[in-house]
Amino acid sequence: MSLNHNYYNPIFSHIYVEESVYEKPNVQEIISMFGNATVIPIRHYKDVFNKSSQNSLIQKEAINLILAAKPDNFIYPGAKVCQSFDNPHFYYASSVMNCIFDCEYCYLKGFYPSSNVVIFVNEEDLFNEVSDILAKHSAYISISYDTDLIPFEPITHHIRHWMEYVDKNENLTIEIRTKSANGKILKEISKGIEHLERVIIAFSMSPKGLAEAYEQRTPSLMARIECAMVVKEVGYPIRIAFDPMLYDANYKEHYQGLIKTVDRYLDLKSLKDVSVGSFRIPKDYLKRMRKRNPSSVIAQFPYTLEDGVYHYDNELINEMENMMVNELKKYIPEDRIYMWRET
Ligand code: SF4
Repeated sequence: MSLNHNYYNPIFSHIYVEESVYEKPNVQEIISMFGNATVIPIRHYKDVFNKSSQNSLIQKEAINLILAAKPDNFIYPGAKVCQSFDNPHFYYASSVMNCIFDCEYCYLKGFYPSSNVVIFVNEEDLFNEVSDILAKHSAYISISYDTDLIPFEPITHHIRHWMEYVDKNENLTIEIRTKSANGKILKEISKGIEHLERVIIAFSMSPKGLAEAYEQRTPSLMARIECAMVVKEVGYPIRIAFDPMLYDANYKEHYQGLIKTVDRYLDLKSLKDVSVGSFRIPKDYLKRMRKRNPSSVIAQFPYTLEDGVYHYDNELINEMENMMVNELKKYIPEDRIYMWRET
């Protein structure tokens, strides 16, 4: 599998490694891929990640990497701002913290004190936790949650390991949410996997202008669509997440145009499903985002606060989401359109 070192080296110029995991073969493999990086042993990842007086905005310009072991809690029940897609046992996994992309609206900016990336390298403990859950009931797990996992796949092989695990556990379905355009790697790691039907690739798509304005360092809309075309051809079920929908004065034309474009290339009715959700974010995260980035148009918008969650006012939400659903119904049956809340 090829790895574009040049893509990573400018980002991960320093790699902090917990002493307890330093000798692990997967840690040594990752270190060996960044020949120019300075490797610094540390006692605990929080000594670096949770340091006081960090500026996560500046850090985003030169992200460093932390390799650590997570003692427990890899798997969490789905949060209330997330969609469960009718799955009774909906979870998300946290095996990587932070993302190499830089979406202005990303809740991670208000969630973590740092923009550095932490990769938890004790996968075996994660899969033990999943096994405990599956011993009780089936599960649907969103695995690319506090991150976008696909850009890390060349160095972690983590998605491939999840897919092998899915293959062996018929009561498990996973979702990989992404803005990546790396269809090549998803094609590569699908080889030999028998149950791709339980590995859902969910592409987040935003109108071109909004993506360019607020989704920095992400692949363009067309690159994501082309990636989805490749991945669909391979046989993965495809979900398109029109989520988060962002308001601007011309949002109707933007989102109607987006639906048309996605349908032209991907034929919406042939996809597994789509999801719709306007921007919403837990109160404390937005509070921190406003403080950390006073010039952010997204963070400073005058949202409505309800039950600990900031969102657009209810009239606007209904207008935006109903417009989107009504438009999507022209292309895909309504029972395959999911919303993050009932209207
Ligand atoms: S791709 Fe997802 S996880 Fe990454 S910055 Fe954007 S919203 Fe956040």
